[in-house]
Amino acid sequence: MSELRVGLGFDVHRLVPGRPCWLGGVLFDHPTGPAGHSDGDAVLHALCDALLGAAGLDDLGTLFPDTDPKWKGADSAALLGEVCARLGAAGWRPHNADIVIATEGPRIAPKRAELRTRLAGLLGLDPDAVNVKGKTLEGMGALAGGAGVAVQVVCLIAR
Ligand SMILES: [Zn+2]
Repeated sequence: MSELRVGLGFDVHRLVPGRPCWLGGVLFDHPTGPAGHSDGDAVLHALCDALLGAAGLDDLGTLFPDTDPKWKGADSAALLGEVCARLGAAGWRPHNADIVIATEGPRIAPKRAELRTRLAGLLGLDPDAVNVKGKTLEGMGALAGGAGVAVQVVCLIAR
């Protein structure tokens, strides 16, 4: 029987005008997008942290510091590729992931199937092993004078 480990990831970004809206490696047609040093893809960042956490490999901010100009404007799909390579080097592979995206930005539901396919492709999994749920923030970001996206990911890895 293979060895299994669970990991938890969380990330939050503000949504600001004039930024492309990348979430889960999918480009949404929306007037605001996540602020950040990289492309701001909170879904991929939380997924990376869940995988790294499960494997005991620190976290995204330690591996790819946002003070490093190398990662300015970085494609987070490339960061996830690097994370998967590090897991692979340690003998681990992703098994499944469950993802909650809470946002006042774009509606997630219409792109859920596309998100699952894209994320499964990045992880080398079947789409049925990657679940995506969209939630609203019940206007809480507006109370703080803005809007945002918050993402929580639980994943299982095996070796
Ligand atoms: Zn992030």
